[in-house]
Amino acid sequence: MKVIQIREGKERSLLRRHPWVFQGSIASGKADLGETVRVQSHDGQFLAWAAYSPNSQIRVRAWSFDEGERIDRAFFRRRIEQAVAVRARMAVPSNGVRLLHGEADGLPGLVVDRYDDTLSVQFLSSGVERWKDVIADELLAVTGCTRIFERSDASVRQLEGLPSVTGWLRGDGSTVITLQEHRWHLRVDVAEGHKTGYYLDQRDNRALFADMVRQYGCKQVLNCFSYTGGFSVAALAGGAEEVWSVDSSAPALARAVEHVALNGFEAERHHAVDADVNALLRQHLKEGRRFDAIVLDPPKLAPTAAHAERAARAYKDINRLGLMLLNEGGLLLSFSCSGGISADLFHKIVAGAGMDAKVDAYLLRRLEAGSDHPTTLTFPEGEYLKGLALLRR
Ligand code: SAH
Repeated sequence: MKVIQIREGKERSLLRRHPWVFQGSIASGKADLGETVRVQSHDGQFLAWAAYSPNSQIRVRAWSFDEGERIDRAFFRRRIEQAVAVRARMAVPSNGVRLLHGEADGLPGLVVDRYDDTLSVQFLSSGVERWKDVIADELLAVTGCTRIFERSDASVRQLEGLPSVTGWLRGDGSTVITLQEHRWHLRVDVAEGHKTGYYLDQRDNRALFADMVRQYGCKQVLNCFSYTGGFSVAALAGGAEEVWSVDSSAPALARAVEHVALNGFEAERHHAVDADVNALLRQHLKEGRRFDAIVLDPPKLAPTAAHAERAARAYKDINRLGLMLLNEGGLLLSFSCSGGISADLFHKIVAGAGMDAKVDAYLLRRLEAGSDHPTTLTFPEGEYLKGLALLRR
């Protein structure tokens, strides 16, 4: 077993069970792509079993902090079983569930979403890449699913020196799967959809939105960055008279139109708008258009803290426009899925947007990802999705 020695004074984060070691913290040692290594302190004390990533700034990702644990098939079986068992206890109201959420479930870089009988999987680190076949077999054995579609096409693979890979890893057939989320039906294409196919992390917030649209009597609803219209279906279910889904992806909008029909809502109540949200919000403002509820769920503008400043300006701008386009008493659900923007910072940004818009709002709720996208005490970096539910005063 190859040994990676940590610089004196740099072992603290591993001792706190944080799973990452950056290149600069390593005193000596090298290994192959994804190879299992023993990580130890400058004086030879065991710190972790880990996977080595020769090309990444995050050079080492810990598998286990237990010296007695072996990293083998049984290890992956245990981790997968534990993650799947905890999802069962979470009683997720959907057959679309995130079964493994990387570091939070003790398998750094592994994302597994279950869509009914099919798993859609991202292998995002050298460690899980090396164990891919073992992980695939154990996933099928533990879940009883029959098929695995691989979506290892996320850009973080480049940082690991891994190529982009997509396609069936186990099984085959149609890549379009029908989901039931709450009481709504949705169609997810694991090959063509974003990420693993769908944004499962917004599930709870869609249900909350339906409730709030009903409770606050919102009639005209603007769903910005709608993707396939999850929040639009929720608004219609909540009694909205008219809903606009705005996105720059034509295939996503086509799916949103299909979702409106699939859930039994009249086509006239829904408008699919293929547009740039930034431009459209400005145009609406100029025309004096107003809405009773607006959703702002932009893509990740700040993947890391280094992008935070520019992203903050972009978030502030769309939130300013969103607040100005609300009728008095109107509802705004505003999100950021940027790891580089903390919940506190996001609150400050939206507060700044309110100042610029000369609009105040009640903070009804702070929002986050569903519990099947967990963070842990030791890995705060896992917290990425944050949002605010605001009611204009
Ligand atoms: N709210 C969605 C997820 C949104 S993901 C859900 O609940 O499923 C972000 C979406 O923003 C993507 O669908 C992407 O196509 C779209 N997008 C990115 N930049 C955009 C822009 N400038 N204008 C409009 N849509 C944009």
